[in-house]
Amino acid sequence: MKDLHLPNIDAEKLDRELVWHPFTQMAGWEKEQNIVVERGEGVYLYDVHGNKYIDGVSSLWVNVHGHNNPEMNEALKEQIDKISHSTLLGLANVPSAILAEKLLEVSPKNLKKVFYSDSGSTSVEIAVKVAFQYFRQKGAAYKNKKKIIAATSAYHGDTLGSVSVGGIELFHSLYKPLLFETIRITYPYCYRCPFELKHPDCELYCAARAEKIIKFHADEACALIIEPMLQGASGMITMPAGYMKKIERACRENGVLLILDEVATGFGRTGKMFAAFHEDISPDAMCVAKGITGGYLPMAATLFTQEIYDGFLGNYWENRTFFHGHTYTGNQLASACAVKSLELFKKNDLLNRIKPTAELFAELLKDFYHLETVGDVRSIGLMAGIELVKDRHTKERFEPRERMGNKVILKARGMGVIIRPLGDIIVVMPPLVIDEKTLTVLMSAIYDSIKAAAL
Ligand SMILES: *Cc1c(COP(=O)(O)O)cnc(C)c1O
Repeated sequence: MKDLHLPNIDAEKLDRELVWHPFTQMAGWEKEQNIVVERGEGVYLYDVHGNKYIDGVSSLWVNVHGHNNPEMNEALKEQIDKISHSTLLGLANVPSAILAEKLLEVSPKNLKKVFYSDSGSTSVEIAVKVAFQYFRQKGAAYKNKKKIIAATSAYHGDTLGSVSVGGIELFHSLYKPLLFETIRITYPYCYRCPFELKHPDCELYCAARAEKIIKFHADEACALIIEPMLQGASGMITMPAGYMKKIERACRENGVLLILDEVATGFGRTGKMFAAFHEDISPDAMCVAKGITGGYLPMAATLFTQEIYDGFLGNYWENRTFFHGHTYTGNQLASACAVKSLELFKKNDLLNRIKPTAELFAELLKDFYHLETVGDVRSIGLMAGIELVKDRHTKERFEPRERMGNKVILKARGMGVIIRPLGDIIVVMPPLVIDEKTLTVLMSAIYDSIKAAAL
């Protein structure tokens, strides 16, 4: 590995001086113990000084088969020797065509067409624009269907359309003057129920209310977008069983298209290939990104039903074309990685193989309730959020300026673990291939970090 290292280049210094990091307060950045990653191997990241860390958040929720995976590398190299990129605007290419078939094969059966892009945000923009245009073209009876129904505290990405359907105060409220208007349903958050009810005695009051809202706005709503089973960036908030099914039914009965944002939950993360399968949901559109290339290259796709696709067909001069496309749409290198990733799911029987891992994960997570500062622990498959609170009985939060979540992740670094919090919610999301021994090491380091941060 030494030969790859360039000792004359001080990347740490260059970064400090030149790079503006995403979702990062840069004031004080130079004072923090920043890590410059140099290479990866399986579930480990190595920095420029040779320190080794467990990648506890799959490099922001994307990594599936481990870093530097020989088979993934081989697929990428094979494709590079053919071609790296040609446009999908008016031209086709081999790996993106193969990928479309493989993606549809593992997705809800009613989805028939694939529209590529390159990030979760763009996959959402595409779903929203298509839903809007679909009803514009459907005829006069649908002319009022212009609005999108979205969930409270949703996160769908950072471009303005995806921010419009988002609902995280801290990230989104400033941009309000730039955003389009939406209709809101309440995302269930059982630990802090907005209706102050208790599950299951509540009998899913939140869902009943959402059903009413969907019905009430049926005339003006073209689509509803939601993160199925788990809301990610808002704090790893899991849905109670039955909620998603009720939302699907309400959409169906009221002629509102259902868009599932599976950007975080897709590709095995929740224990099934897509979260839609937990309650057998048939969406009209599904957004996928993060794990699609196994964590190798940026890529996204929005999958649609035949019916929606057909709504865009017509003579050239009728302007039913979907005038949308990003330059690197359907890129060959990214497609080749995504194809290989899906092949590895099959070849390694990954969805079955992670079952015991996920069971152990759930088991280890229960221990966290022994910690005084842990209020709630939520998980599905191999994604979890540990909510830290100042007072477990009143559920009082820590003062933001205490930066408790940040304290925990800095402690974790000292113990050889990379994680990133969402405020005071500690996110744990190891690569799907993590073995049980390493998972135990990871969880015990996080446990100790939470304990140490509270002192
Ligand atoms: C991360 C995320 C997005 C945005 O994806 P980017 O690739 O960061 O644009 C959208 N929706 C959900 C649910 C996500 O978790």
